Amino acid sequence: MLKVTGTLVWYYFICKRQVWLMAHEINPFQDDPFLEIGRFLHAESYAREKKEVEIDGMKFDIIKNKDGKLIVAEIKKSSRFLESATMQLCFYLYRLQKMGINAVGEILVPQEKKKYSVILNQEIILKIEDAIREIKEIMHYPKPPEKRKIHFCTHCAYAEFCFA
Ligand code: SF4
Repeated sequence: MLKVTGTLVWYYFICKRQVWLMAHEINPFQDDPFLEIGRFLHAESYAREKKEVEIDGMKFDIIKNKDGKLIVAEIKKSSRFLESATMQLCFYLYRLQKMGINAVGEILVPQEKKKYSVILNQEIILKIEDAIREIKEIMHYPKPPEKRKIHFCTHCAYAEFCFA
């Protein structure tokens, strides 16, 4: 049974074809420099504060308790894909809420010295539930959705696969 993950939610808000490719474990080229930068930033930034925690398959970069409030933080390399990053974090907050854990989110962008607050509300919950439903549908398509040239393609590790 294919499982909806936070990573798939991130891709869903960028490119639905990528959701299918990821879900079917068609791995992108591992020497893609964009991925390398991401890995480096992930490893180096916030190294002292970083407390990676895994709950029920969800991996959080940082979990902290501030003034009695649980904060779940994700580290991103850029705020260019903020909608995707926000919805990915909302997906985690939604799943935590289903487990009886109320938390708020933060997106940290060390390279830009930026921090964005993420709070779950009813409108976002409906958007997440729609996304989960459609991701499940996409995953069960017999073949990937058609490629569609978008701005993200130039940064996408599947670019060669799609457009070579
Ligand atoms: S290269 Fe473009 S169309 Fe292909 S998976 Fe990446 S974002 Fe989607």
